[in-house]
Amino acid sequence: MRQSKLFTKTRKEAPKDEVSKNAELLIRAGFIHKEMAGVYSFLPLGLRVIEKLKSVIREEMNSSNGQEILMSTLQRKELWEVTNRWGDETVDVWFKSALNSGGEVGFGWSHEEPITYMMKDHIASFRDLPIFVYQFQNKLRNELRAKSGVMRGREFIMKDMYSFSRDQKEHDEYYNGMIEAYNKVFSRIGLGEDTFLTFAPGGAFTEFSHEFQTVIDNGEDTIYINKEKNIAINDEVLNEDTLSNFNVTRDDLREVKTTEVGNIFNFGTQKCKELNLFYNDKEGNKVPVWLGSYGIGVTRLMGVIAEKLSDEKGIVWPSSVAPFDIHLVEISNGDEEVKKSADELYSTLSKNGVEVLYDDRSTSVGQKFADSDLIGIPIRVVVSKKTLAEGKFERVERKSGATDMVDESTLLSQT
Ligand code: ATP
Ligand code: MG
Repeated sequence: MRQSKLFTKTRKEAPKDEVSKNAELLIRAGFIHKEMAGVYSFLPLGLRVIEKLKSVIREEMNSSNGQEILMSTLQRKELWEVTNRWGDETVDVWFKSALNSGGEVGFGWSHEEPITYMMKDHIASFRDLPIFVYQFQNKLRNELRAKSGVMRGREFIMKDMYSFSRDQKEHDEYYNGMIEAYNKVFSRIGLGEDTFLTFAPGGAFTEFSHEFQTVIDNGEDTIYINKEKNIAINDEVLNEDTLSNFNVTRDDLREVKTTEVGNIFNFGTQKCKELNLFYNDKEGNKVPVWLGSYGIGVTRLMGVIAEKLSDEKGIVWPSSVAPFDIHLVEISNGDEEVKKSADELYSTLSKNGVEVLYDDRSTSVGQKFADSDLIGIPIRVVVSKKTLAEGKFERVERKSGATDMVDESTLLSQT
């Protein structure tokens, strides 16, 4: 993509009412647009990051036998009443509206109820199970506070997966496999080091649920960790019982601020009993289905990466989710030879599947480099009079600033 054609502008200052670091960076670099508190639109660069995140997650979900679907946003009140999750006393984030034709609808903040109900059309016998489905869907939540940029949206993209299993053994196997899949996702997108599988409050069926918590300054959550023993405990379940359960004392644990990037939850057979999702086993007995629910906050991840992996100059995207592989910057100052060399490199790289943002604008060198640092593409390649004279290109790593001179073939193998 030619930067001269990119409609988004970088800016020196974020809007005055923006208090979060991630949104400030993402707005300044032209990845997102703020509509109102907790509501953001995704611009070309931002959408590319979202799509990269989704494709990493999609690969891992597909490897776990997940089948992708897309459920509706509008939700039927009657369904949520069955499970006692319609009332604002039980769920405090509902957005609701009235139909012109009469009656109320809700905007989906999660999808256990509709998906379980839908499965009644598809599950009858033990032969129909297990089923694993997932979606990338815009969730709407009437969050009381929305001061963490895209890390806490009132509208945000979630990957939600649901497992329908025959019994506890089948359920547990999948649940444990999902922990592995989540670990792969977080390490592939550069957050593996600082993301902890954390014990959190459970539901009716289990003592604990599991959250994936990423350490970040000013995170909204607090957890207690022991890295050597690989233990992480959410503050909501930190008590004498839990400590002795894990054979640690409070002094063995360090308090850290985090944000929840993923959550996996065992509903046991409760939800399927409530919504009447049963199957016939081999002996013809009517048995309730086991439900597991597995979320990842896609847009929250974008915020976490932008904020956590940034430096004083701007964002530093890991290559797996960067909007482009290479930021090609020409410094021609009107020199036709230099311009031609940069144009040719752009065309060769693009033809060979390398994703390039090409800064072909006639702006100052200083502005180009500042924008490049702010946008944060992992590799910058500079074409100038000097590089042309050497017959090579200057390659700069965004993260370390390390610079070397390389030829075209090295750049072609960049991805
Ligand atoms: P939190 O405690 O941060 O509010 P939650 O427990 O409400 O999270 P879940 O209902 O488990 O979150 O949703 C699954 C995932 O969706 C979370 O792990 C998180 O990554 C993401 N998520 C939840 N709420 C938001 C939000 N308001 N904005 C962006 N992402 C969110
Ligand atoms: Mg919440």
